[in-house]
Amino acid sequence: MLREDTVDRLLVEVEQAREELVDFVTELVRIPTVNPPGEAYQECAQVIGDRLSDWGMEVEYVEPVGRPENTVAYPRVNVIGRSAGEEARPLLHLNGHFDVVPPGEGWTLDPFEGIVRNGRIYGRGASDMKSGLGAAAFAVECLRRTGIKLRGSIELSATVDEESGGMAGVASLCSTGHISSARTDYVIIPEPFGPDRICVGHKGVYWFDIVAQGRVAHGSMPHLGRSAIDDMAALVDSVRTQLKPRLSLRESKVPVVPPESATASINVNAISGGQPEGLVQTPCVADLAVATFDRRFLAEETLGDVRAEVAELVSALEAEDPGRRYTIKDRLIVEPVSAPDDSPVVRALANAIQRVRGRSPELVVSPGTYDQKHVARIAGLEHCVAYGPGPLEEAHQADESCAIDDLVTAAQTLAVAALELVG
Ligand SMILES: [Zn+2]
Repeated sequence: MLREDTVDRLLVEVEQAREELVDFVTELVRIPTVNPPGEAYQECAQVIGDRLSDWGMEVEYVEPVGRPENTVAYPRVNVIGRSAGEEARPLLHLNGHFDVVPPGEGWTLDPFEGIVRNGRIYGRGASDMKSGLGAAAFAVECLRRTGIKLRGSIELSATVDEESGGMAGVASLCSTGHISSARTDYVIIPEPFGPDRICVGHKGVYWFDIVAQGRVAHGSMPHLGRSAIDDMAALVDSVRTQLKPRLSLRESKVPVVPPESATASINVNAISGGQPEGLVQTPCVADLAVATFDRRFLAEETLGDVRAEVAELVSALEAEDPGRRYTIKDRLIVEPVSAPDDSPVVRALANAIQRVRGRSPELVVSPGTYDQKHVARIAGLEHCVAYGPGPLEEAHQADESCAIDDLVTAAQTLAVAALELVG
């Protein structure tokens, strides 16, 4: 049990750091770490590293090894700060990504000015997830300011490339053992699920191409060829009219947010066929068409079943018309992940939300994947969840923002949870 007076002092310490915390987040928002291509990463890592170092943390910069995206023009670098307690374990690792998606259209204010207005911070990354990074950093610092002696230790990493898969970011830190079940006990990723929600995991992804193989012929005599585009049209139609409705009835028992994403789904991501657009066209029957599909599956589905379902749909179409030839090619597979229900990290955050926010926490699952997949698969660590400020709905949107009250209470919640886990 945490001592009430200790928790009270900790909450006051974070509240007193409100202005500083807002300044830190706006400073990060002003660094345009746009990915792709991965701009200003070194500058942002340095700003975070300098701050952690000023606070007495031991700071290490880690360059990803052997990653092709780590180039001279767009160097990748991750930064880790360590706050050692009496013992190395238990070790809590807080991780946030500092890359942001391009601003896109529709902004009514400068996405990189770090504007504070009406109790909110505005800008690209204000929600996803520079507020989360700031909240995590101040949670650790305020534990120190309160003078609490920790039994275990805390690490904070700020990493790159989450928005493009995280291979040079968290995946790299997991591969080098910086995050590993051999030394790390708990991981919290302050992605913007909101201050009352604990995200225990995410749905699975099966990305694949289907190639339709036709036979080329002169466009004036199409009967002599076989149109791969016609065959692809039949396939896309079958996905739309048969598979999609079936998937939409398959609902997860775990509460996915937003609720519209609670079912299994499939999306046609891209389609191409025939001669490349933009070139001079010659009259030909298309002998090749390719479509890329994005199938999101539930924890209740197995990858084997998901693939078999696609294969059956393809076989049925081939059986209907013996001239049809399709090939399925896998692109990317991410299994669903979830922290165990009785995980200490879930319990600590739930208790902290109750204490700080005065509400029962909502346990949710994310429709999209994030860096938890690397922590689960590469580091082999199941006690990993996401908890952080910012409205999920504003991630990647124009006029992205985060409420300052949510930022401060999320920092308080993270600090109290950290105290329960390693205090
Ligand atoms: Zn994010």
